[in-house]
Formats: sequence, structure tokens, C-alpha cells
Amino acid sequence: MTIHDRTTTPAPAYPGEATAMITPDTNGTPLIRLSEITKIYRVGTERVHALAGINLDIQANDYVAIMGASGSGKSTLMNILGCLDIATTGTYCLRGADVSRLSQSKLAGIRGRQIGFVFQSFELLPRTTALKNVELPLAYMHVPHRRKRALRALERVGLTDRAHHHPNQLSGGQKQRVAIARALVQEPDIILADEPTGNLDSATGEEIMNIFDSLHADGQTMIIVTHEQNVARRCHRIIRLRDGLIEADERRA
Ligand code: ADP
Ligand code: MG
Repeated sequence: MTIHDRTTTPAPAYPGEATAMITPDTNGTPLIRLSEITKIYRVGTERVHALAGINLDIQANDYVAIMGASGSGKSTLMNILGCLDIATTGTYCLRGADVSRLSQSKLAGIRGRQIGFVFQSFELLPRTTALKNVELPLAYMHVPHRRKRALRALERVGLTDRAHHHPNQLSGGQKQRVAIARALVQEPDIILADEPTGNLDSATGEEIMNIFDSLHADGQTMIIVTHEQNVARRCHRIIRLRDGLIEADERRA
């Protein structure tokens, strides 16, 4: 390739895009590959098989809902996908790298760089402005230009005018938008959301899903745990868990 060719080849708009183009479904490494993942919790002398052998590939820019009854293993799966916890057995490859057996500090580094989290209860620091809440992940990772990047993330969720408000001065939907900005700010490979609309009324939930739709359209990979049909039907793929196993994996138009 000549230098001229290089300059006329558009740069990928986001990191996942390059992966999607270079390694498509058919012959390449997916963004996420889980092979025979199990998670067994020990409670006293009891053993709880929370995940019983999960095989799952997720491609860059997938838009996935994870559904299933209470106790079916959704949160356990999210914790493993998000590198908050490790599987008892099985392999997790993230961008082709085996992260199944990493130390807590290595996992923390992966979370900081590659994964953005959104929770049902927002999990914002109460005595801290929206802007500072969004800057926080960058501070942990010692990333420069924190303020500018945090403002840009707040802009993406339409909250520029609330940057200096504290969480108790924001509505539920606004708090969740701050949390989404915080998840976005380090430009993660994946956004993981566990019941992101669970504490919101349905109209506000729709607003949050509109933001998720637009992030997905911009190339973001999204994985959302939900029990709400209205949320799941926005996604392009619905995975149903039952007793720690994938019961159904449905792609939608
Ligand atoms: P869901 O999010 O679908 O409700 P979870 O992943 O939270 O399901 O739980 C799956 C199973 O694992 C349940 O039977 C639950 O009781 C059990 N479980 C989850 N977390 C723990 C834990 N920390 N210790 C022991 N058992 C747990
Ligand atoms: Mg759960």
C-alpha cells in the first residue's frame, strides 16, 4: 500500500469497526467468545450452578438483550462479561485475548479501558457534580483531557446544561443519562447495562433506549439485561437464559 492509499483510506470511526471489518463472523475472532463457561457459587456446603455451560459469540456492534427469569444467571453472566468476576471453568476471550484467569488488578485494567457499565440504580456519587461523576473513570485510568472528554460524553446524552448539577438535582432519567455518559467516556469496546430502565417510568425508559439506539448506530457494542419486552424489542438479538443455560438466541431484523 502506498502512502497515498493510506491517506485516502478512511480511518475507522471507532475501535470496534476495524475489528468488524478485518475479522467478520465467518472466519475471524468475535469481540466476545465464551466457551463452556460455568459459575458455581459455594454457599456453606451447597453448590449453586449459576451458569452451567455457556457458549456465546458476540460481534462488534452487536445490540443484545439478555432475558430470563429471576435466578436464571443474567447478573452472573454480566459480571463475567464485564470482568467483574471470573468463571469457575471455561474460557472467555475478549478481542481474541484470553481473560479467563486474570488477576483482579489485570481485570480492573480491562474494565477501565474496555467496558462501560450502566446499572439499574445509576450508582452516581451523590456529593459530586454530573461532570465530575463522568470524569471519574478517566481519573482512575490517569487519562488526560478529562474535562473535555467528560463534557463531550455529556453532550452525547443531551445533558450539557446539567453538567454542574448534583445527582439530587436531577430526575431519574437524567441520572441514568449521566451514568451512560460515564460508561461512554473512556470509549469502551462494550457497554453492559443491567436493567438500565428498571427504576424508570416507561416514557423515561423509552428516552434511555433512544440514547442506546443512537449509540448502537454510532457503532457501539451494547449488551442489556432486561425483563422488559419494550427494551428487548429495540435490540437486534435476544438471548434467553434458563437455569444457567442459553435457552434461545434469536436475531431480529
Ligand atoms: P439473575 O440475575 O438472572 O436473577 P443471578 O445471576 O443473580 O440471576 O443468580 C443466578 C443463581 O446464582 C441464583 O440461583 C442465585 O441465587 C445464585 N447466586 C448469585 N450470586 C450468588 C452469590 N454471590 N453467592 C451464591 N449464590 C449466588
Ligand atoms: Mg440479576
